[in-house]
Amino acid sequence: MNNDKQLKNWLNNFNLNHPLVIAGPCSAETEEQVLTIAHQLKDTDTSVMRAGIWKPRTRPGNFEGVGAIGLEWLKRAKEETGLKIATEVANKTHVELALKADVDVLWIGARSTVSPFIVQEIADALKGTDKIVLVKNPVNPDLALWLGAVERFYTADIKNLGVIHRGFSTYEKIKYRNNPEWQIAVDLQSRFPDLPLIVDPSHIAGDRNLVFDICQTALDLNYDGLMVETHHTPDKAWSDAAQQITPAFLDQMTVDLKIRNREG
Ligand code: PEP
Ligand code: MN
Repeated sequence: MNNDKQLKNWLNNFNLNHPLVIAGPCSAETEEQVLTIAHQLKDTDTSVMRAGIWKPRTRPGNFEGVGAIGLEWLKRAKEETGLKIATEVANKTHVELALKADVDVLWIGARSTVSPFIVQEIADALKGTDKIVLVKNPVNPDLALWLGAVERFYTADIKNLGVIHRGFSTYEKIKYRNNPEWQIAVDLQSRFPDLPLIVDPSHIAGDRNLVFDICQTALDLNYDGLMVETHHTPDKAWSDAAQQITPAFLDQMTVDLKIRNREG
């Protein structure tokens, strides 16, 4: 498997002296909401704005995303703030629309990583792209599925690849929405040491009060970045309200987090 030193290049291109920060709402809701959040994030350490437009809800009957119109809102957020933009893609059509809208970062959700058919379809649609592609861990604690997805993207010649650790579901009631099982991400990192590793504290936590400590643990483990759900009025969010923080909270959090000295 190709595992050369080039792999962290895309991260180095951001030229940061701190971990990469990806922030933004769980879901794009309205154009006004996307632009309000983008402008509030502009003056933080955030480099990339995230927003889901096709939402993979576990049960039907919940808000399932605004769809392709959200790409227009993200494009406008990028034009107005200079932030790069990121969204989740879960099939070939999503990939085609996101590439057409010049989305900078495409991520594969936890419910897609479990399916080799879906992963392969997305990898084929992205073949050879220079976009940044981030692969979330599968919902279940299965390292092989996560590795398999990464391998499918390498095989499709996706060079600007990274992984997102968002925790693993359990039937047991625990303090977290998704059990971090840090060892699984550490094992993945040991096999692909040059693959940027980003924590998603929001989906691990399920509760905004736990977000800071999860970020600190990840940074202590030398993670390369954070993807944090951030909303201007978190309690009114249309999805994942309990875990979202405000841009102001995010800004303070990046000051308070003890960030280790990083090489290069
Ligand atoms: C999300 O990022 O909003 C999301 C749906 O995440 P996950 O795939 O980790 O559940
Ligand atoms: Mn979410």
